[in-house]
Amino acid sequence: MRGGLEAAAKGELGASDELGARLKAYEGRSASVAGKGKDLVNEPMIRHWCEAMGDTDPAYTGPDAIAPPTMLQAWTMGGLSGHTGRAGAHDELFDLLDEAGCTSVVATDCEQEYLRPLRLGDEVGFDTVIESVSDRKTTKLGTGYFVTTRTDVRVGQDLVGTHRFRILKYAPARQKQEPKGTRARRPRPVVNRDNAGFWEGVERHQLLIQRCTDCGTFRHPWLPGCNACGGLDWDTVEASGEGTVYSYVVMHHPPFPAFDPPYAVGLIELAEGVRIVSNVVGVPYDKVRIGLPVRLEFRRYDDEPQEGDEGGPLVLPVFRVLEDQVGEVG
Ligand code: ZN
Repeated sequence: MRGGLEAAAKGELGASDELGARLKAYEGRSASVAGKGKDLVNEPMIRHWCEAMGDTDPAYTGPDAIAPPTMLQAWTMGGLSGHTGRAGAHDELFDLLDEAGCTSVVATDCEQEYLRPLRLGDEVGFDTVIESVSDRKTTKLGTGYFVTTRTDVRVGQDLVGTHRFRILKYAPARQKQEPKGTRARRPRPVVNRDNAGFWEGVERHQLLIQRCTDCGTFRHPWLPGCNACGGLDWDTVEASGEGTVYSYVVMHHPPFPAFDPPYAVGLIELAEGVRIVSNVVGVPYDKVRIGLPVRLEFRRYDDEPQEGDEGGPLVLPVFRVLEDQVGEVG
């Protein structure tokens, strides 16, 4: 045990996982006890939330308003000043991880369950436990542990919902030393089950827009559900490729290895009405203007395969300023 911890204290995760066993002992321990929401469930906070979310559901207004269920966590947050009465286990767990070199943290996901709506005037209480600590995992970010905390939210004795929050606390992977003269490559897209169809389309040189089959609303970027009606069924429509520059920024700083600043990043409004972030090509960065007509094309990047490549060269949709416009700008 001791040797492993000493190695851990030097910032190295050894081959055996004695640290993991120590972390597991924190499962079930309290991270906060008898927490109290800073405010009663109230109309102004609900209104701000709904404005930020663009949610106009009438259930959230008026004297009988309920709070949007996804606000669950908002009622338990400590704000800048924090909560008093935090239990020590959570800090201890994080200290152990820090000492082992797992000094970086990234939030990975959150799950909520709702048992009954919160209503105006409800006084929210909560308890948080360290629900689980994963086995040691190695991810692209580095090696570490997923820690899940569960917050039970109550009004009086009634459990009204639970909020699970998962983080990865990890030792950052060492950056691979690139041989001198190797040009850094553009970051690869993160393809997941919600957006895989989009990237499959891009490989075929098709820009596919999601369309809700319940209400017909187009959406981009790809999402599992419709923002207009909540419908979960969808099909796709191929974009015509016509669009205009809706907005843009010119990037000067910070520098990213694969990009040569300054360069323009455009928000392109497609003829179909949805917008997409992309590069504007065919004009110098300082000639990009709002309203410029552009046309879709597909560009290959980083043709030279490198070790660790998945799939072929990177293909990305970009937008070219139409030639007859080039002379008219500036
Ligand atoms: Zn819809």
